[in-house]
Amino acid sequence: CQWWDHVRPAPKDPIASVGEAFLADASPNKINLGVGAYRDEEGKPVVLRCVRNAEAKVAGSEFLESISTSANSRLVEESIKLVYGKDTDVIGEGRLAGIQTLSGTGACRLFAEFQRRFYPRSKVYFPDPTWSNHHSIWKDAEVPQGTFSYYNPRSKGLNFPALIDDIKNAPESSFFLLHPCAHNPTGVDPTEEEWREISYHLKVKNHFPFFDMAYQGFSSGDLDRDARAIRTFLQDGHLIGCAQSFAKNMGLYGHRVGCLSILCTDTMQALAVKSQLQQIARAMYGSPPIRGVLLVSTILGDPDTKALWVEELKAMVNRICKMREALRESLEKLGSPLNWEHITNQVGMFCFSGLTPRQIELLQREFHIYMTADGRISMAGVTMSNMDYLANAIHEVTK
Ligand code: PLP
Repeated sequence: CQWWDHVRPAPKDPIASVGEAFLADASPNKINLGVGAYRDEEGKPVVLRCVRNAEAKVAGSEFLESISTSANSRLVEESIKLVYGKDTDVIGEGRLAGIQTLSGTGACRLFAEFQRRFYPRSKVYFPDPTWSNHHSIWKDAEVPQGTFSYYNPRSKGLNFPALIDDIKNAPESSFFLLHPCAHNPTGVDPTEEEWREISYHLKVKNHFPFFDMAYQGFSSGDLDRDARAIRTFLQDGHLIGCAQSFAKNMGLYGHRVGCLSILCTDTMQALAVKSQLQQIARAMYGSPPIRGVLLVSTILGDPDTKALWVEELKAMVNRICKMREALRESLEKLGSPLNWEHITNQVGMFCFSGLTPRQIELLQREFHIYMTADGRISMAGVTMSNMDYLANAIHEVTK
């Protein structure tokens, strides 16, 4: 018997295949706009100074089991403060069930499994479009899924009326996945007023809001400001879930540090929910590696290191904002007849360019510029050194 003869190659991951094509290109001019992680003005990955400080502080301690347990609970405590606000009542009331996870992906996967166990027939609704892995994660957890309107290709902004209609039309008590800031891939976030309305309509239909917070800080440069949507939902009395990742905002992609928290009605419920999450995690992967957890809990737990992180996060966001302004300006200076306002209107790591599949193909073939097939430009891949070349190439293919 030939055990694996029937196994065919899995379809390529759309983001990873952009990276592979980029690596295989020998052109000295090539630009990778597919990366989802921060790059500095020389196009290089960055290790933040706050991470280096934390590394020095934890040196030699990472194999002590007792420390690992306390680091895990410190990580959860500090992560929760970042999302819900350090002074919120729900922390004191013990209503949050929090558990450390394998970055944002692990938090989503754990929640999807939890959802299926306790609400096997409820659907999850994703914004259209969303991070492609959301579909795969909830599919593997065998949760039925749908989408709700989000992006309007004509305005390159939010399709708010259609979004609200879709909330109203979804079956009562559905799950809604929301990006609280720096929406991936569109860079389009609702305004505060729009969030208030979204919260209201979700409440009316008793839907459960699940926030995937992969880029806290990347919309505005301010951690609290980027959590405003979630705080609005808190005020409105929702029970909510939240996946957090430190991959992007601490540049710790490889360490896989994240947190899943679920706001419950009271302490008893929170304890029950937490124990179920722990049991699911134990059977799936045991526990996460300790080193990243130690680094993040040290950064968040030490006021000076945390202040340094906040400063470094702002610097990353500022660079991205400057690149947005410079790219728009360069295209306008070249005399592009198209409207490029969305480059500066959109926020976060990405710009949903609106380039067509043909234009994207030309950029790759003629100019060695790589981006995902949906036209998402990672603004972190743009630098002052590749700006003129990039703007000129975009202008050439969109003339
Ligand atoms: N959620 C969204 C919206 C993302 O864009 C990403 C990463 O690209 C993630 C979650 C998961 O990131 P990670 O698992 O690296 O923390």
